[in-house]
Amino acid sequence: MRKITEIIVHCTATPEGRWHTVADVDHWHRQRGFFGIGYHFLVLLDGTIATGRPLWRVGAHCTGHNTHSVGICYVGGLDAQGKPKDTRTPEQRKAMLQLIQLLKSVFVGATVYGHRDFAAKACPCFDARKEYEGME
Ligand SMILES: [Zn+2]
Repeated sequence: MRKITEIIVHCTATPEGRWHTVADVDHWHRQRGFFGIGYHFLVLLDGTIATGRPLWRVGAHCTGHNTHSVGICYVGGLDAQGKPKDTRTPEQRKAMLQLIQLLKSVFVGATVYGHRDFAAKACPCFDARKEYEGME
């Protein structure tokens, strides 16, 4: 297994309430020239935690951080006008908390970040670092 020191949170940057699945993200990422979906997990609107790229494989989600991180992404992140917004449903919030707790128990000492902590982007449209700090 790779050495994982970071758990990086993303959004799909799609409008609030619009349903997307791993197949959609896989398609978008292939169009961008990635070898399929770049995230390891995708949290759907109903709280389903879908698996993307296998954990042992390096992701394609955060330049300069892929080799030592796990990428997780929730569906949403934009309002109806296309502006950044924390659109997480209650089910997504719960699922993300459970997923991050699990990942932190497997990759002891890993720190949670938002994509925006490493890039000039709004992604994931909330302060992931702050929201998940202090979880051990
Ligand atoms: Zn991102």
